[in-house]
Amino acid sequence: MKAMTLNQIELLGKRSLKSLVAPLSWGWAETRKSWHPASNNDGQVQILAYHRIVADIEQAERNSIYGLVVSAKTFARHLELVRESYEFVTIDQALAIVRGEQRIGRAAALVTMDDGYQDVYDYAWPVLKQMGVPAIVYVPTALIGTTQLLDHDRLFWLVLKALEGGLDLREPIEAAGLSPERAARLCATRDAARVTDQLNYQPLAVRQPILESLEAALALGPTDYPSHYRLLDWAMIREMVDGGIAFGAHSDRHLILTLESEVSAEREIRRSKRVLEEQLNCPIRHFAYPNGYYNEAIRQMVEQAGFVSATTTERALAKCGDAPFALGRISLCEESTRGISGRFSEAVARLRLTV
Ligand SMILES: [Zn+2]
Repeated sequence: MKAMTLNQIELLGKRSLKSLVAPLSWGWAETRKSWHPASNNDGQVQILAYHRIVADIEQAERNSIYGLVVSAKTFARHLELVRESYEFVTIDQALAIVRGEQRIGRAAALVTMDDGYQDVYDYAWPVLKQMGVPAIVYVPTALIGTTQLLDHDRLFWLVLKALEGGLDLREPIEAAGLSPERAARLCATRDAARVTDQLNYQPLAVRQPILESLEAALALGPTDYPSHYRLLDWAMIREMVDGGIAFGAHSDRHLILTLESEVSAEREIRRSKRVLEEQLNCPIRHFAYPNGYYNEAIRQMVEQAGFVSATTTERALAKCGDAPFALGRISLCEESTRGISGRFSEAVARLRLTV
C-alpha cells in the first residue's frame, strides 16, 4: 500500500467525522421536522451552488480543483434528495420569497451554477431537463465564446504540471505575497489546490505576471490546456435560455472584485450585464460575486448597475427578510457528500443538503 500523504489523511479524517455525525444529525433533523411541519419552513430558500458537472469524476478530480467538480450521477442524487424536503424554484421566485412577496407553503430550493463551464451544457442540463428543475447559471462574459480559460483553471493546471515536473514554485508563491518561509511550507504540501488558491486570490496585476511566468517556465501555450476547462459559447447559452435556464452575470473576467480598483470593479459589473443583455436580448437582473467576495462598496455598485440580487459563497440559508444582495449558498462538490468509504453517502448527503 502506498504511504498516505498529509492531505489524504486530512481528507479521511474529515470523511470519518462526517460519517459519524451524519446519522445522528439526520435523526435529530427528522425528529425536529416532525415537530415542525414543512409549512413552517415557508419563507426559506436553500440555494445550492455548483460549478462543473462531469461524466468522469475520477479524471476530473485528478485534473481540476476538486471543490469545483461533481459527477452527473451525484448531482442527480442531490436533486432527488433535496426534492423530498424542498420545492425547486426559479431565481425570480426565490427572490420574491426573500422579499416576502410570495409564499409557496413549504421550504424552497434553488440550483445555481457558477462560471459557465461547457460541461454544464453537456451533463447538468440533461439532468435538470429530465427532472424539471429550474436553475440559474452565472457567467463571466469576457470568456464566453472564446478559447480563453478561467485563471483558476489555468493556475491549477500549471501548478499540477510544475509539481509533476519538479519545478520550484517558491518564486511565484512569494510573488503572491507569502514570506519565503511560508512559501517553502506551502510548496512542501505539494497540494495543487492550496497553491492555486494562494496564486489565484490576487488582483489581476499580480496574478497575470505569475500566470505568464509559469506558462513560460513550463513552455505551455493557450492551446496546451485540457479541453474540459472550456466554457459555454453563446449558441449553447441561447439554447439553454430557450429551454428555461436563467443566466446571470459573474463579472466580465472573473476578477476578485474586492481586490481591484473601484473603476475596474465597476467596469466588470456593468460590462457583464450589458454584454449578457446584448447577446440574449433580455434583462439580466442577477449577479454572483466571483469567489463570493464582496464588500459594501461592491454591493452598492451591483445594486446601482441595475441588478436585483447577488449571491455569495457564505454558507447560509436564505430567509424572508434577508438582504437580496448577500444571499448565502451551500457550495457542493463530489467530496461534499462522500462517506468514509470514499463513495457517495446518503446519510452525509442528507446532512449537507436537507438539514
Ligand atoms: Zn466563479
